Amino acid sequence: MTEQKQPLLRARGVRKHFGNLQVLNGIDLDVYPSEVVVLLGPSGSGKSTFLRCVNHLEELDGGSITVDGELVGYTRRGGRVHELSDRAIAVQRRSIGMVFQQFNLFPHLTVLRNITESPIGVLGEPRARAVEHARELLARVGLADKADAYPRQLSGGQQQRVAIARALAMRPKLMLFDEPTSALDPELVGEVLATMRGLAADGLTMIVVTHEIGFAREAADRVVFMEGGVIVEQGTAREVLETPRNPRTRAFLSRFL
Ligand code: ADP
Ligand code: MG
Repeated sequence: MTEQKQPLLRARGVRKHFGNLQVLNGIDLDVYPSEVVVLLGPSGSGKSTFLRCVNHLEELDGGSITVDGELVGYTRRGGRVHELSDRAIAVQRRSIGMVFQQFNLFPHLTVLRNITESPIGVLGEPRARAVEHARELLARVGLADKADAYPRQLSGGQQQRVAIARALAMRPKLMLFDEPTSALDPELVGEVLATMRGLAADGLTMIVVTHEIGFAREAADRVVFMEGGVIVEQGTAREVLETPRNPRTRAFLSRFL
């Protein structure tokens, strides 16, 4: 991460409210190419809402977000002054992969078809190329032998790894993970985190919301602690996890000791 590089994601003053509830209170965040940012914070602090703003699942009420220099959302004084066309939004969303707590695979499609569906249907990739890529991705997530299985035949950890492969099949510039291991039985968490550590080592740019402090310690280039819709503290994993400066960060982390 050098200072000269342009950030892949640049968020400035991002604000979002639901009715009277101000959920994001001015988020400034830069994420550089190949950087792994772990976003920590108590439940309700606005982590998911922020990821959803990045991925166009929510409109901003203020501030701006750019991904690779292109505007995702921009508003001024509560009014949306820059309207992106649906087409522009669709193009941008393709370049951002998202993995949720719930994997939501198509139950009636094989693992391979789950992965090739969007590259063929949305990107227009030739089937043979999409299948070849899907097989590569299955190998990368450790499931080369599961191409013809159906989701119900897989464990939760395997299904989540398929969901990761499915997101990667769109060749995203940026991957967002929203508590990807929270729905898993404890013994299945490790295999998903190991897959994510592999992607991080391969240089994928990732924002990961997780309560897995061990993952943050090992894989994060930067740890960001959020509470009440603002970034309270950020720094290297060592700085934030070992020597947090803010009392709220310390209080949050003390739960994990
Ligand atoms: P986190 O992911 O950090 O737990 P969220 O971003 O999911 O936090 O939620 C932040 C706050 O916004 C919570 O109080 C939540 O209830 C509220 N919220 C989130 N989405 C909506 C919505 N669509 N409508 C109303 N309130 C919402
Ligand atoms: Mg959340």
